[in-house]
Amino acid sequence: MIRTGEQYRDSIRDGREVFMNGERVKDVTTHPMFKPLVDIRARIYDMQHETATAHIMSYREGGEPSAIGNKLPLVQSDWWDKRRATDTVLEEVGGIVTRVGDETVGEMWSLFDGQDVLNEVDPQFSVNIRNHIHKVVHHDPFHVSANTDPKGDRSRPPQEQDPDRLLHVVKETDAGIVVRGAKFETAAAYANQAYTKPTIANWGDATDSDYAVGFICDLGSPGLKHICRTGFAGRAPAEDYPLSNRFDEVDTLVIFDDVLIPWENVLFYRNTRVAMFIRATLHRYSAFAFLQRNLKLADMMIGVGLFNARQTGLDSRPAVQEKLARLAVYREGINAHLTAAITLAERSPGGLMMPNQSLLYTGRVLAGSQLHEMMHVTRELCGGQIGLTPDAAAFRSPETGPWLEKYYTLSEDWVAEDRRRLLAYARDLLNSDYAGHRLTFQLFAQSPPFADLAVVYRNFDWEGPLDFVRKSAGLSDAVKRRDASRPGDGAAGRWYDPAPGPAVEEAAR
Ligand SMILES: Cc1cc2nc3c(=O)[nH]c(=O)nc-3n(C[C@H](O)[C@H](O)[C@H](O)COP(=O)(O)OP(=O)(O)OC[C@H]3O[C@@H](n4cnc5c(N)ncnc54)[C@H](O)[C@@H]3O)c2cc1C
Repeated sequence: MIRTGEQYRDSIRDGREVFMNGERVKDVTTHPMFKPLVDIRARIYDMQHETATAHIMSYREGGEPSAIGNKLPLVQSDWWDKRRATDTVLEEVGGIVTRVGDETVGEMWSLFDGQDVLNEVDPQFSVNIRNHIHKVVHHDPFHVSANTDPKGDRSRPPQEQDPDRLLHVVKETDAGIVVRGAKFETAAAYANQAYTKPTIANWGDATDSDYAVGFICDLGSPGLKHICRTGFAGRAPAEDYPLSNRFDEVDTLVIFDDVLIPWENVLFYRNTRVAMFIRATLHRYSAFAFLQRNLKLADMMIGVGLFNARQTGLDSRPAVQEKLARLAVYREGINAHLTAAITLAERSPGGLMMPNQSLLYTGRVLAGSQLHEMMHVTRELCGGQIGLTPDAAAFRSPETGPWLEKYYTLSEDWVAEDRRRLLAYARDLLNSDYAGHRLTFQLFAQSPPFADLAVVYRNFDWEGPLDFVRKSAGLSDAVKRRDASRPGDGAAGRWYDPAPGPAVEEAAR
């Protein structure tokens, strides 16, 4: 029920069509631009078996071990367990990996919550989502997310341009549906399966559309082509770019060139109502793991900023302490949202345990909208030398090395090599191609900022402040609650029902 790293590597050596830099990649497990991340993913699988980490990374399901990341959240403690397992991984690998499965599997739990909507379309679809949740728990695949189509001209419907701009069904067969189109997917080239669904929800009045389709796609399926952006690993020495060389999660444009999706993998089809439900609830669970990565990013910025200030003896200056305090406020803001989202967890409509929705989504906006500013504060703390320092080879050269030794040694405690390492690390965190990519990832990879704010709008309990002002300002009875029965999901201070839903546990099995 839990795989080993080697079983994972074998599973992606399936003849899939992967391309990078204009060339076909024969084996993603050995290609220099994929290997670092494949190795980390394999390491995560192995950590599930090792004595030191097995109890953090796995739990027992039906008497057998399963991955904590894949566990259906039923009680509040499930979220503490997931948070601890993710932290353990990030500590072990020494950096940030986001698309390794724990972040994306939660999208399926959102659809689990929508089973009554699925049942209205076809009860078989709710059987299919339950089976897939069961499959993830029992087979431990590496699961990713596919939402974003190339889209084309948004002012015109897809039918009035190249119809394949948005992924759609072109044929139904006894075996399943045949789909055509394309999706952007991080990590698809070295993952096992992707939950594939529409991103655009402007269906107009249409209740039925070939574009309203959601399914689990086996990423080794015939007809799939993975066209990857170039990798950051191997482009420059690891000593100079220590993060780029270890943590690049390659993104892929996945082309669906008439791919057969077996009926058992189809989660909804032709129904715009389900497609809209999906968009509204997609990150209900998965935003937690996404936000948790931001916390680690904040720690990395604090670490490089403070080390730099200490190296240069500037940490005693109040103005420098103020900048460090700003980073600490940012970090603790994220920490508070994550912690409170678990502490005030809520029962989902399907009976699962969700992180408190309002706190989770506002935390995501807090972290995402200030990240660029915090990177700049850290850059400022590091000083211009992150952009000026020669590479490691220059430190080793007999001609230039002694000069660099002289000018980069700050004290007995801070020798030139440590200063070089710290500056190279800071550059890769803040200034490099990889650094810019990570910033863009945090900005867009779940959804763009306007969509993140729209979710906040829908999940904040507006009635609380309105009630207060209604009474405090002595407004007349004419100013009524718009909808007195509205539950106010996500309202701070509301407590959850701590009992796991037995019916839900049963259904999940
Ligand atoms: C590094 C990276 C990794 C990614 N990984 C994945 C992945 O694994 N799976 C996946 O499915 N997708 C992935 N994405 C894609 C991501 O989900 C999309 O980039 C995102 O949803 C935005 O869509 P878009 O790029 O088509 O931008 P657009 O929709 O073109 O939006 C661009 C901008 O236009 C404006 N805009 C557009 N529509 C509106 C509107 N209705 N109201 C107001 N403003 C609007 C906003 O300023 C918006 O930011 C990834 C993206 C990046 C950068």
